[in-house]
Amino acid sequence: MAARKAPVTQWSLADLGVDAATVGKAAARTVVVDASPRPPRANRVKITDTGDAGTQARRLPHREGTRMTTVAVLVDHRDGVVTRPSLEALTLARSLGTPVAVWLGAVPAADAVALLGEYGAAEVRVVDAADARIASQAAAALGAASADADVVLVISTFVTKEIATRLALATGAGVVVDAAGANLVDGKVEAFQTVFAATWDVRTRIESDKAIVGIRPNTTLAVPADAPAAATVVEVAVELPTTRERISHVEPVAQAEGVPLAEAPVVVSGGRGTGGDYALVSELADLLGGAVGASRDATDEGWISHEHMVGQTGTTVTPALYVAAGISGAVHHRGGMQASGTIVCINMDPEAPIFEISDFGVVGSLFDVLPQAIARIKEHRGA
Ligand SMILES: Cc1cc2nc3c(=O)[nH]c(=O)nc-3n(C[C@H](O)[C@H](O)[C@H](O)COP(=O)(O)OP(=O)(O)OC[C@H]3O[C@@H](n4cnc5c(N)ncnc54)[C@H](O)[C@@H]3O)c2cc1C
Repeated sequence: MAARKAPVTQWSLADLGVDAATVGKAAARTVVVDASPRPPRANRVKITDTGDAGTQARRLPHREGTRMTTVAVLVDHRDGVVTRPSLEALTLARSLGTPVAVWLGAVPAADAVALLGEYGAAEVRVVDAADARIASQAAAALGAASADADVVLVISTFVTKEIATRLALATGAGVVVDAAGANLVDGKVEAFQTVFAATWDVRTRIESDKAIVGIRPNTTLAVPADAPAAATVVEVAVELPTTRERISHVEPVAQAEGVPLAEAPVVVSGGRGTGGDYALVSELADLLGGAVGASRDATDEGWISHEHMVGQTGTTVTPALYVAAGISGAVHHRGGMQASGTIVCINMDPEAPIFEISDFGVVGSLFDVLPQAIARIKEHRGA
């Protein structure tokens, strides 16, 4: 109660000695060009299981860019292996200009360098001294290796979002993270995002000369360059800032087997409707080269571990294909998967909300429908 009665002191910018031109909208380096509610999915199909079901994921064709913009891509790598989202980012970079790869860590092996070249990076700039897990160091290293770049692309993760914002602060660049794509309009980068649990589309123009964009995995189809480059390694010497942060202990969190959920091009998720039996869900995910997802109710039941959870409190996924089996489509679940490319659902209840956001829905039991889907895919592949 004492707090409620305490006088509230208001400070103006002048009181704080802050120049009004350096904060707020006046100093913004990004402008929202368009924001609109996402239209309902077109051509939605709902069928009742009759023993025959199937659909195909669609992808937009990729265009090669011809502009002379230099686009630095911060490569994500694990144990020296380039991750697929890095190849997606290089593909996007080619549609914006000329890509160069930035690699933080020990000089990559020849096959990793060759792969980056195959996706269009003629140069792989290596900063060996930087620990990418310390954002301040990584930002300084990326800044040095991308000093001449007009655009810097990172793959949106918890850590790279901090790296991107630190670099933006240091260079005066505008930054947009969690983007689903970007293009050049009149020489300025425009980035696209789906926001508010994937219910709105937003287009943001970056007004500054340098633009930094954090791209979500699976939003661009990774395609090798029409003219692959013979990539050369360029080691960049950087004076890294002294930092009070130290990593004293690293212990990897147990990961779900197979493709990481956030990066998977296909996610097959099971909910309470599985009754805890994930055999069919896992088999379909394996068959499609995807990851297994789950609703929170399923993870709370202990049927599957929490790192599989998709949704507001779980992982946000944007695969090309999302299959929801025995999941009702509660708002908390939808928030983490609604921006997926093609959504397929299987549910016994024709009124389940998941049908509202699905491109293709089957009314039926997952225990009847999934075996048919698996059999048809195997048949199609001649297995
Ligand atoms: C703060 C907060 C955060 C949350 N965060 C998340 C989150 O991140 N992710 C998340 O998923 N949830 C989250 N939840 C929980 C969420 O609200 C729902 O309770 C949950 O998503 C429901 O899971 P479900 O769809 O598996 O279960 P249900 O809602 O019980 O749906 C099960 C569905 O399976 C169908 N079904 C049953 N048997 C079959 C069968 N044999 N074949 C086919 N269909 C069948 C049923 O018709 C039903 O539609 C959160 C809740 C709160 C309050």
